[in-house]
Amino acid sequence: MQIVCLDLEGVLVPEIWIEFSKRTGIPELMRTTREEPDYDKLMTYRLDILRQHKLGLPDIQKVIAEMGPMPGARAFLDKLREDYQVVILSDTFYEFAHPLMRQLGWPTLFCHSLEDDAEGMLVNYHLRMPDQKREAVKRFKELNFKIVAAGDSYNDTAMLGEAHGGILFHPPANVIREFPQYPVVLNYDDLRTEIDKAFAKAA
Ligand SMILES: [Mg+2]
Repeated sequence: MQIVCLDLEGVLVPEIWIEFSKRTGIPELMRTTREEPDYDKLMTYRLDILRQHKLGLPDIQKVIAEMGPMPGARAFLDKLREDYQVVILSDTFYEFAHPLMRQLGWPTLFCHSLEDDAEGMLVNYHLRMPDQKREAVKRFKELNFKIVAAGDSYNDTAMLGEAHGGILFHPPANVIREFPQYPVVLNYDDLRTEIDKAFAKAA
């Protein structure tokens, strides 16, 4: 009765906006919550830029499909799913993740959604609920599951804290410094070892 909750971007697939910006040569899309802490402003800005470049959802999905998951991600995930239930908790959007989920064998994904118009242009975004990563872990615990969570960044630390065990995968230096309570791993073999260890400890 164990669930592994995994972050998506930075763990199984590249950072979608950053990689998209590189592949399309649109530097404005490099902007993240670090430069613009107001998420609504940031998203409105991003959707405007996409519209200015006449990039609709089918064009965007084509670019994202070409990114592919990180090397080794599919094998890691397949093996993990043999032994545990796995739920991916991400702050991305279903429409962006779709081509990558196909390449990962359609694992379960909880994230947010985008709205497009008749021409395929993105007109709005919909966050399913605030703090959804932590809330999901909390609800799974109420269903009597043991949870181990892994992520790479600030937006994962609430879910790591809520889980029975938390692991940082390839985090930036400032996250390592601020959250010394979590083990840090840099590759999938070590991540799998830490997941098994964390469940053994939580049993
Ligand atoms: Mg991430």
